[in-house]
Amino acid sequence: MEVHRQRCQACQSIDVRNILVRRQGEPTAVYVRCANCGELVARYQLSDYYHHGKGPESFYRSIGADACDSGRRALEIFNRAKEDSIQGFKDALERLKEENKEV
Ligand SMILES: [Zn+2]
Repeated sequence: MEVHRQRCQACQSIDVRNILVRRQGEPTAVYVRCANCGELVARYQLSDYYHHGKGPESFYRSIGADACDSGRRALEIFNRAKEDSIQGFKDALERLKEENKEV
C-alpha cells in the first residue's frame, strides 16, 4: 500500500479543497483546488462516493439509481462502501503516521 498527501504542483502546499460537481448522466467529478494559491491540483471522476455521516440515498445517487436492482442489494453495497471507507481512512492515516507525514 502506498499513501500520499495530495500536493499542489504549483506551490507544494498540501492545503487543498474539494469542489464536487454532479451533472446528469455523468459521474460525479471532484476538482481539487489549492487553498494556498488557488490552482487546480487534480480532477477525479468517481465510480462511487461515500460521504461519511450521510445516509444511503446520497451514495445511491453517486452510483446511479439503476446500479441497484433491489433495496436489499443497494443497502449491502452502501454498507460495504461505508465499512471500506472507514477502514481505508484509518489505514491511510496509520500509514501516514508511520511515515511521519503530516496528517
Ligand atoms: Zn498551490
